[in-house]
Amino acid sequence: MGGNNSYEMAVRQLTEACSLLELERGICEVLKQPQRVIEVSVPLRLDNGEIRVFTGYRVQHNNARGPFKGGIRYHPELTLSEVKALAMWMTWKCAVVGIPFGGAKGGVAVNVKELSQAELERLTRTYTSRIMDFIGPERDIPAPDVYTNARVMAWIMDTYSAHVGYPVPAVVTGKPVEIGGAPGREAATGRGVATVARAAAERLGLSCRCAAVQGFGNVGYHSAKLLHEAGYRILAVSDSKGGIFCESGLKPEAVLEHKLKHGSVMGFPGAKEITNEELLSLEVDILVPAALERVITRRNADDVNAKMVVEGANGPVTPSADRILEERGVVVVPDILANAGGVTGSYFEWVQNRNGFYWSEERFNTELERVMSRSFEEVFSRAEREEISLRLAAYLLAVERVAKVRELRGIYE
Ligand code: NAD
Repeated sequence: MGGNNSYEMAVRQLTEACSLLELERGICEVLKQPQRVIEVSVPLRLDNGEIRVFTGYRVQHNNARGPFKGGIRYHPELTLSEVKALAMWMTWKCAVVGIPFGGAKGGVAVNVKELSQAELERLTRTYTSRIMDFIGPERDIPAPDVYTNARVMAWIMDTYSAHVGYPVPAVVTGKPVEIGGAPGREAATGRGVATVARAAAERLGLSCRCAAVQGFGNVGYHSAKLLHEAGYRILAVSDSKGGIFCESGLKPEAVLEHKLKHGSVMGFPGAKEITNEELLSLEVDILVPAALERVITRRNADDVNAKMVVEGANGPVTPSADRILEERGVVVVPDILANAGGVTGSYFEWVQNRNGFYWSEERFNTELERVMSRSFEEVFSRAEREEISLRLAAYLLAVERVAKVRELRGIYE
């Protein structure tokens, strides 16, 4: 992953929006800094009896508009700078789609592929106990992110509930349905990606029929599956081990079955193997980077041959690459809009947990598509009116909304 560090990149995007909005300088300074940074040590006794110590984080960027909200990432190369950037992006994301949450992110610098299920459970419970005083349904609500899933959310919910003495489903979202998860949440980010991709293609008058997706986890798989269901040919998908390409199109469900059996999309029968770098330069209508940040940089932006890049991942395109793509006429649908279906679905889950009244999956999907389509239209019309990129339009909307609330609530010194 090249380019600047992620936090510098997030600050750069914010500063550009602040200068166009002519915000008071002090407000921009407030928004640049997370409200709270928590760093904890997470000791773990391995199954073989040895003790290892990992570093965990929770960064709470801003809660002007509602409780902090954001995923938990387990990745060996996780850094504080990355978590700070991801937390800030969550603040803007919630504001773009108009849901009453602030932004946070957390995680542990750990390679989950080296842990047993029992070790993963112990690590999750210890991490939860370390951040226990800072989370809660009214305070800060974690969710899944890279290399965490519904199973991990269940352990967080259980550990938190054990500490307070009663079940608290609303402390995390993305839980298994059996313990208060919402049917539809699992696919929500991908559904949002597919919804805005289709809306963008239509509004921009692009005839889009084929796509490539980098990353075949929660976001990548569901984006590919829903685009496929909408009639798109999925020419290529990839994971951390590499990619596969098939001119006549891949069936995402069959690829998932293969990945579950063999641990990777690689080796899928009838497909040609390609590198992640090659996937990014394929001639496709829609490219969905859905793995990690900073994969399209100044170094390879000229090689992108898609009509449109829809950011399933957070921060996959650096600001320098953004400029190159814009000059080359490649439309970028920004992360804070494109992948906001996840947090929108999380909001629906949280609302249901707090009401104790559960929706059908059909209602969940309809409400989600409504929020995503409305948000896309708001961003698109602002971009059109002010002749700016979709990213800048999304930032202007988001930062304006957060700054307005800050102004109404005032600065408590
Ligand atoms: P995940 O763990 O389910 O999947 C990640 C996928 O990326 C895996 O297939 C993995 O093999 C692949 N990957 C890892 N390193 C890679 C590399 N170097 N090159 C190519 N592929 C690589 O994670 P996820 O939840 O799907 O998250 C993916 C991205 O989407 C992240 O940027 C995350 O922050 C963002 N996101 C997730 C959600 C959500 O609801 N899960 C919501 C919004 C945004």
